[in-house]
Amino acid sequence: MIKVKNLFKAFDGLQVLKNISLEIKKSEVVVLIGASGSGKSTLLRCINFLEIKNSGEIEINGQVIDTQKTDLNKVRENMGMVFQHFNLFPHMTVLANVIEAPVHVKKVSKQEAMEKAMQILEKVGLLDKAHQYPDQLSGGQKQRVAIARALAMEPDVMLFDEPTSALDPELVGEVLETMKNLARDGMTMVIVTHEMGFAREVADRVIMLADGQMVEEGHPSVFFTKPEHERTRRFLQQVL
Ligand code: ADP
Ligand code: MG
Repeated sequence: MIKVKNLFKAFDGLQVLKNISLEIKKSEVVVLIGASGSGKSTLLRCINFLEIKNSGEIEINGQVIDTQKTDLNKVRENMGMVFQHFNLFPHMTVLANVIEAPVHVKKVSKQEAMEKAMQILEKVGLLDKAHQYPDQLSGGQKQRVAIARALAMEPDVMLFDEPTSALDPELVGEVLETMKNLARDGMTMVIVTHEMGFAREVADRVIMLADGQMVEEGHPSVFFTKPEHERTRRFLQQVL
């Protein structure tokens, strides 16, 4: 579904991603880990073209994306992105937040978008909050609305950048549970997280980044018990 080949990205001369190559298959759940500043967010942002690579290739659904010639908004519509901060529209109800992009970007009828939105809200356990406003919700509920909003565009892949890092500890579980359900439904997901228990349970593959390079990747059963590289071992010691 996503192929990244020899990706390089620099900001003002600072190399942030160095020769990244990876492949994400349909229905695969890939967890990206690594210290702060290692390039995890930049990699996600390059994958959905919020940042434009300096060199290398990104292929989505079999198509190499030429950033000059492709309508990047169209490419982005197929990738749901969930950030640490939920970025909901505060003046809109939960339901209005969820139907906003389908109606205004995808030009789906309001009726159809609302029906779909209610199904998705049910799935993330927020049907009863449809007519509330974001500031009436807990952080965990807000993040689940953000997930619902991304799902409403029916993306092929969901990208998560530390979706639980801004939450109080007691609210982390409900968001992880929602993400687990998505994985179970076969959603393709790339997730930056420090939740190692979640990674162990849900990831098909864990990738460790350090200084903009891929240090190691593997199935969690191997990755967490027998990491090959010293940098992975050191990182895991700090977070586990
Ligand atoms: P991570 O998500 O792993 O913490 P980031 O991808 O956010 O790492 O950042 C990697 C490096 O790139 C850091 O040194 C960061 O300061 C730098 N960086 C990220 N975004 C920008 C930007 N827009 N302009 C300049 N430097 C940036
Ligand atoms: Mg980051």
